[in-house]
Amino acid sequence: MKLPKVPQRTTTGFVFPMIERTLKECFTVRQFGLEEVAKVREFFGAEQPECTFCGSPEVKRWDHLLPISKVGDTVLGNMVPACAQCDDSKQDKPFEEWMTSDAKYSPKSLGVKDIGQRIKRMKAYIQHFGYVPRSLEDRLNKHELERLRIIRLKLLDIRDDIEMFIKDYKARTT
Ligand SMILES: [Zn+2]
Repeated sequence: MKLPKVPQRTTTGFVFPMIERTLKECFTVRQFGLEEVAKVREFFGAEQPECTFCGSPEVKRWDHLLPISKVGDTVLGNMVPACAQCDDSKQDKPFEEWMTSDAKYSPKSLGVKDIGQRIKRMKAYIQHFGYVPRSLEDRLNKHELERLRIIRLKLLDIRDDIEMFIKDYKARTT
């Protein structure tokens, strides 16, 4: 019997980027229910859902074309069905750049034939539903941007404090 892997230690390097992501996601629009899912299916037209990037039938995720780290919204025109491998490989990279890159599991590396067609289709999808990216500067007013700046500075401080504390503890006990 194969035993499961021992869980990784949770680090500040894991937690703090998640806080930043949470902050950004709060300012994005979220409107993506059954109706929107049906419209995506209708647009891409395949009988069996497939990964928009590589064509795999193993569709397990919804991927943000413009990632949350770049303040991408969870709406029609930005959400596409994807396989886990593509979603994990693409991460925060611009989709066109990633698809044609030599990244380990990019469509190009996997030898996907119709990459150009797929990119065109995705651009048409974005345009069809009129998705326009908006930065945090567009979404927040001056006062809110300043509030966010202060929160980020405090977070940096807390992160430093935590790391120092852990370091000191380890120095004392090992
Ligand atoms: Zn894929």
